[in-house]
Amino acid sequence: MSFAGVCQICESAEARYTCDRCGAAVCEQHYEARVGLCVDCATQM
Ligand SMILES: [Zn+2]
Ligand SMILES: [Zn+2]
Repeated sequence: MSFAGVCQICESAEARYTCDRCGAAVCEQHYEARVGLCVDCATQM
């Protein structure tokens, strides 16, 4: 698991962002740019 090229949520799209909270590499669709978190963390806030 050293190559973080794929979104850790959908595991299909290219991961272009990193969650500030859990550190997950996520794609555009699963990243909330407003808060800088992945959608999993964003819904928990
Ligand atoms: Zn995704
Ligand atoms: Zn997260």
